Amino acid sequence: MNLTFRISILSDYHIGAGYGKGVIDSVILKDKDGLPTIRGTTLTGLLRQGMWELLQLNLLSGHRKCGQSGASGNSYCIDDDRGSLCPVCRILGSPKHPKIWKISSARVEKPSILKSGKILWRNRVNPRIRTAEERKLFSEETLGGKMDFSFTVANESDDKDALEEAAFIVAAFRMIRNIGASRRRGKGQCRFHLINISPDSFKEDGDIENKMLEIFKIKWLENKEINIIEKDEQINQKLEKFSAKKSFNLILLTKEPLLIASRNESGNRFQSIDYIPGYTILGALAWKVANKCDLTEETIYNKFIRLFRRGGIKVSPLYPCLRIYDDIYPTVPSPLDFLTCKLYLGFKENGGHGVKGFAIDKDEPKKCNECLNEGLETPLEPLNKFVPLYPEPKTVDVDKREEMHITIDPKTGRTRTGDLFSYTVIESGQYFMGTIEIENWDDFVNLCGIDDSQGAVSFELRIGKASSRGYGLGQVWLNEADTQITFLGKPIEKRINLTQPITMTLITDTILVDRWGRFYSTLNKEILEQILGVEVEEVFNTYVKTKNIDGFNAHLGLPKWRDCAIAAGTSIGFKIKDVESNNEIIERFKELEERGIGLRRNEGFGRVAFNHPLYDKNKDVSVRINLPEYMRVSRREEKIKNFERRWHNYLTENLKGDTFSQDEWRDEWRAVSRWLRENSKMAIDDITGMFRDFHRPEKIIDMVASKQPHREKKIFLNDESKGKYGQDLLMKVFEELSNKLKNENDTIREYLKTRAIEMLADYIESLREVEE
Ligand SMILES: [Zn+2]
Ligand SMILES: [Zn+2]
Repeated sequence: MNLTFRISILSDYHIGAGYGKGVIDSVILKDKDGLPTIRGTTLTGLLRQGMWELLQLNLLSGHRKCGQSGASGNSYCIDDDRGSLCPVCRILGSPKHPKIWKISSARVEKPSILKSGKILWRNRVNPRIRTAEERKLFSEETLGGKMDFSFTVANESDDKDALEEAAFIVAAFRMIRNIGASRRRGKGQCRFHLINISPDSFKEDGDIENKMLEIFKIKWLENKEINIIEKDEQINQKLEKFSAKKSFNLILLTKEPLLIASRNESGNRFQSIDYIPGYTILGALAWKVANKCDLTEETIYNKFIRLFRRGGIKVSPLYPCLRIYDDIYPTVPSPLDFLTCKLYLGFKENGGHGVKGFAIDKDEPKKCNECLNEGLETPLEPLNKFVPLYPEPKTVDVDKREEMHITIDPKTGRTRTGDLFSYTVIESGQYFMGTIEIENWDDFVNLCGIDDSQGAVSFELRIGKASSRGYGLGQVWLNEADTQITFLGKPIEKRINLTQPITMTLITDTILVDRWGRFYSTLNKEILEQILGVEVEEVFNTYVKTKNIDGFNAHLGLPKWRDCAIAAGTSIGFKIKDVESNNEIIERFKELEERGIGLRRNEGFGRVAFNHPLYDKNKDVSVRINLPEYMRVSRREEKIKNFERRWHNYLTENLKGDTFSQDEWRDEWRAVSRWLRENSKMAIDDITGMFRDFHRPEKIIDMVASKQPHREKKIFLNDESKGKYGQDLLMKVFEELSNKLKNENDTIREYLKTRAIEMLADYIESLREVEE
């Protein structure tokens, strides 16, 4: 069930603080396109507040059952039965019950009419070190009045429980009258309205919001039963259909930032890893099914177990894709024996000192040859990047970003010390690719509620941490393909000659155990012979890394276990003993590539490659995948994003130092920053003109004075030291901006220019504030 709400903002509002118990709230309110957004966390906090206020009404006193709903005793409901929980625990979850309603971030409904000049950002994050001081996180971000946002609240299920909860959610949101940090001072007046509901079967004649409030009255105020028709029958019938195995490339486009915490969380810092593990995908799919289907029903439960617990689905990790226009190419982690110059990293074609694999090279040089020619002794180090299966040498980086979050104490409304979180998230708008094999396609389709009648299979999937709070939404596309060559490029026959040295590379993390169940943490001749089942004449070089792996399946309540794995990229160079039956050995190697080695192979562990085509510069490799229309990121969005990234980099590289923060002129620079922000729509030539004339004192004093009371009338920008220097810097910045915009088309140029000037203003302001 999907509820769409509209938030109508009736007056200016500030935002930047959170609400509710234990809610982690984002202070970042600009999405990747520079449009204001309200995070799902903030909305969850408001929902919690609205529910609390409702529950304090006398008529609803019977539903107060725990601390969450205002009763004394346990702080959460501890009953097993969902129907007997208080509405807060039912809807927002508790330690015992997962949260099943997902709240999206709210977006501005009509971005085109939004005047970008109205958005006043005060960024107190220090752009040089990209962190913020705790107290400064409360910087206001003021938004001009009267605009509409919309967001959705969704639940995979459409049953009666869901309808009852939906009615409560609608009523709770109607309680909310103010939004933002200064709401207690009457700012940020707003109204929430339900504007849509799906599936259509819930739509009836008349206003849907009134209909839901009617249900709220019957169920929650009068404690009577509501009547709806159950639809579970259909699912059961479909499940009986004939089934078959299918293999796909699984392509995921991140539609929201993604947070996949790796194990080395230290303190309040969550690190996101730069690929998506197979078990994370399996977990997300299992979660999708568990929310949709009634697992207490035996046949459904059995199918679920077959798919998710008995290896009925095999998923590889998803690695970032190389993208070229509307085509994508898979990548693999670079083999650990791919060494490069520590000073001039990367392939020669990309300006580095070159990359070479040394697994079959007995004499690995310890220094970079190119550097030696110039009399420099530079060590070699592993390339440590994702490398695509693409005919030209390239590397692929994952676009990441750091976000700050705070926890607010609901009683005092203040942040608790030490409750400042920093997450590194994978940015939205990126592609990841892996493979998935599904034993029983029809069971899968039915359990996941996927429509495969049109041929193309695509659906939304929420993955990773905080996936109900405005993070983790991905669009999945299952591209039916020969998944054997997705990561390997071409068939094994075209890669190996058994009389020659061979490199075996782990494409994914691999969990190997000896016959007593102990983890192997290395590879050597003996272990290699066990894996290959043939005699090895010689091992040349081994490049091994290990790591710890955690299990998935919080869902079934199974304990998490920890395995020690040999990391992807590990490679070993060897030569096999002369043997008669070459074909048999090739078949054996082929099977190892298809089946994988070691434990937990259905979660993507243990994929190996013999002589990966990377070692041969991807010769004759062809794995181009053309994106269908619905998987493409809009050009405009992408242009804006790229421009912002480049401009941000330019500013941080060129406006360093204390030019804009020295005490003497701090008020003046503030005035400049404000003036820029308020005149961001002015043509660059005019802005440049204003600054060129700065050395005439009357001009700047006039300009500054009109915005800000000015105590000492010193000749600001004419000052020979910092002021003049700052002026020169700004002139250069304007020139650079003109150049950068020359190549953009008319429709987007104006928008980008305004954004660029705003970013400049923010940047000057942030440099200034850091020094406070
Ligand atoms: Zn409760
Ligand atoms: Zn070098």
